[in-house]
Amino acid sequence: MEPIFNDYFLVPHKKEYIKNPHAREKKKCILCSIRDRDKDVPSFEVYRGNGFIIVLNLFPYTSGHGLIFPEKHVEKFEELSLEEVIELNRKIRQYMKLLNIVQSPKGYNVGFNEGYDAGGSIRHFHVHVVPRYPRELNFIDVIGKTRVLLEPLEQTLKEMKKYLDVFKEDPFSEK
Ligand SMILES: [Zn+2]
Repeated sequence: MEPIFNDYFLVPHKKEYIKNPHAREKKKCILCSIRDRDKDVPSFEVYRGNGFIIVLNLFPYTSGHGLIFPEKHVEKFEELSLEEVIELNRKIRQYMKLLNIVQSPKGYNVGFNEGYDAGGSIRHFHVHVVPRYPRELNFIDVIGKTRVLLEPLEQTLKEMKKYLDVFKEDPFSEK
């Protein structure tokens, strides 16, 4: 599948990651590295609990673009137990609740690519939650094939953490 955009403006982490020989040479699964808190791998962790982790995508399609993945390394959706599938859906719903509060998107694309031939670049199973905003495509997106993000990842995470810290009844505390 052809990528929609050729380049991003606000991805300083990508450069760091590519330049860092440790991160590249280890060839360890990047999501397992994030799970293990590998200091060579940049991570913008929003949430961790009940067997799942939510991070901001390092190469986001839109602000708030999150990845939700099981702590255990599985490569196929069917490898998750029914209980885990339920928990995964709960996490998707909770993350969308959080985004609704912090980012106020007007729509979502939610889904996963399983297998290299389907466009999956990371083998470790993960679900993309992509919030969509009105008029998010502008002139440079269309003409320059360059994505312009509303804010850097640090800012998005800060906004989310601010909410999660202030309110005890955060979206992830539901039973
Ligand atoms: Zn993994």
